[in-house]
Amino acid sequence: MKFKSDTCGYCGACVSVCRENVLSLDEWQLNIGPGCIECESCIFACPLGALEK
Ligand code: SF4
Ligand code: SF4
Repeated sequence: MKFKSDTCGYCGACVSVCRENVLSLDEWQLNIGPGCIECESCIFACPLGALEK
């Protein structure tokens, strides 16, 4: 997963849809932990296109 911090609005939508619970949101950073299964749910959930494979 690639995360574009300058595009992210820090809304938390991606964190909510991640079934593996590997995403966490700090104030200015989205952390992608180990265990991501590349399901792409977060990509589709992001309203701003801040995530890509
Ligand atoms: S691709 Fe799937 S498992 Fe990986 S961070 Fe996104 S929602 Fe979570
Ligand atoms: S859904 Fe998109 S805009 Fe919202 S926190 Fe995640 S990456 Fe950022």
